[in-house]
Amino acid sequence: MQPLQCTECGARVLVQKNSWEHTSVQWDDTARAHCREIGTTGDGRPGTPRKECAALTASITRAVEAGAVPVRDPGPVPTPVVVH
Ligand SMILES: [Zn+2]
Repeated sequence: MQPLQCTECGARVLVQKNSWEHTSVQWDDTARAHCREIGTTGDGRPGTPRKECAALTASITRAVEAGAVPVRDPGPVPTPVVVH
Protein backbone atom coordinates (compact mmCIF):
# COMPACT_ATOMS: atom_id res chain seq x y z
CA MET A 1 0.00 0.00 0.00
CA GLN A 2 1.14 3.51 -0.54
CA PRO A 3 0.14 6.86 0.91
CA LEU A 4 -2.18 9.09 -1.05
CA GLN A 5 -3.65 12.42 -0.08
CA CYS A 6 -7.16 13.40 -1.05
CA THR A 7 -6.94 16.57 -3.11
CA GLU A 8 -10.25 17.81 -1.72
CA CYS A 9 -10.20 17.14 1.99
CA GLY A 10 -6.51 16.49 2.56
CA ALA A 11 -7.07 13.12 4.20
CA ARG A 12 -4.02 10.88 3.96
CA VAL A 13 -4.84 7.25 3.38
CA LEU A 14 -3.04 4.14 2.23
CA VAL A 15 -4.05 2.91 -1.18
CA GLN A 16 -3.48 -0.32 -2.99
CA LYS A 17 -4.82 -0.82 -6.44
CA ASN A 18 -5.23 -4.55 -6.88
CA SER A 19 -6.84 -4.30 -10.27
CA TRP A 20 -8.76 -1.72 -12.25
CA GLU A 21 -11.92 -2.77 -10.46
CA HIS A 22 -10.57 -3.43 -6.99
CA THR A 23 -9.05 -0.73 -4.81
CA SER A 24 -8.09 -1.17 -1.17
CA VAL A 25 -8.14 1.98 0.93
CA GLN A 26 -6.94 2.02 4.51
CA TRP A 27 -8.14 4.85 6.72
CA ASP A 28 -6.71 5.81 10.06
CA ASP A 29 -8.27 8.10 12.63
CA THR A 30 -6.37 11.15 11.42
CA ALA A 31 -7.56 10.66 7.87
CA ARG A 32 -11.14 10.16 9.02
CA ALA A 33 -10.96 13.36 11.03
CA HIS A 34 -9.82 15.24 7.92
CA CYS A 35 -12.37 13.91 5.51
CA ARG A 36 -15.63 15.69 5.00
CA GLU A 37 -17.49 12.61 3.86
CA ILE A 38 -16.09 9.68 5.81
CA GLY A 39 -17.64 9.43 9.23
CA THR A 40 -20.70 11.45 8.40
CA THR A 41 -23.86 9.43 8.24
CA GLY A 42 -24.77 8.86 4.64
CA ASP A 43 -28.53 8.65 4.93
CA GLY A 44 -29.11 10.44 8.18
CA ARG A 45 -29.51 7.33 10.29
CA PRO A 46 -27.06 6.87 13.16
CA GLY A 47 -24.79 3.87 13.01
CA THR A 48 -24.38 3.87 9.26
CA PRO A 49 -21.22 5.85 8.65
CA ARG A 50 -20.17 6.36 5.07
CA LYS A 51 -17.23 4.29 3.97
CA GLU A 52 -16.41 6.17 0.83
CA CYS A 53 -15.30 9.62 -0.10
CA ALA A 54 -16.16 10.69 -3.63
CA ALA A 55 -13.32 13.23 -3.68
CA LEU A 56 -10.83 10.60 -2.59
CA THR A 57 -12.12 8.13 -5.16
CA ALA A 58 -11.54 10.78 -7.82
CA SER A 59 -8.07 11.47 -6.41
CA ILE A 60 -7.21 7.77 -6.61
CA THR A 61 -8.43 7.59 -10.18
CA ARG A 62 -6.28 10.55 -11.15
CA ALA A 63 -3.25 9.08 -9.38
CA VAL A 64 -3.70 5.76 -11.15
CA GLU A 65 -4.08 7.44 -14.52
CA ALA A 66 -0.97 9.49 -13.83
CA GLY A 67 0.94 6.33 -12.96
CA ALA A 68 1.49 7.41 -9.36
CA VAL A 69 -0.39 4.38 -8.08
CA PRO A 70 0.52 1.16 -9.87
CA VAL A 71 -2.12 -1.41 -10.65
CA ARG A 72 -0.87 -4.77 -9.39
CA ASP A 73 -2.97 -6.81 -11.78
CA PRO A 74 -3.86 -4.62 -14.72
CA GLY A 75 -5.27 -7.49 -16.75
CA PRO A 76 -7.10 -8.41 -18.78
CA VAL A 77 -4.99 -6.54 -21.26
CA PRO A 78 -6.45 -6.67 -24.74
CA THR A 79 -3.41 -7.98 -26.56
CA PRO A 80 -4.01 -8.66 -30.21
CA VAL A 81 -3.28 -12.20 -31.27
CA VAL A 82 -0.92 -12.24 -34.21
CA VAL A 83 -0.59 -15.48 -36.13
CA HIS A 84 2.50 -15.84 -38.23
ZN1 LIG B 1 -12.58 13.00 1.67
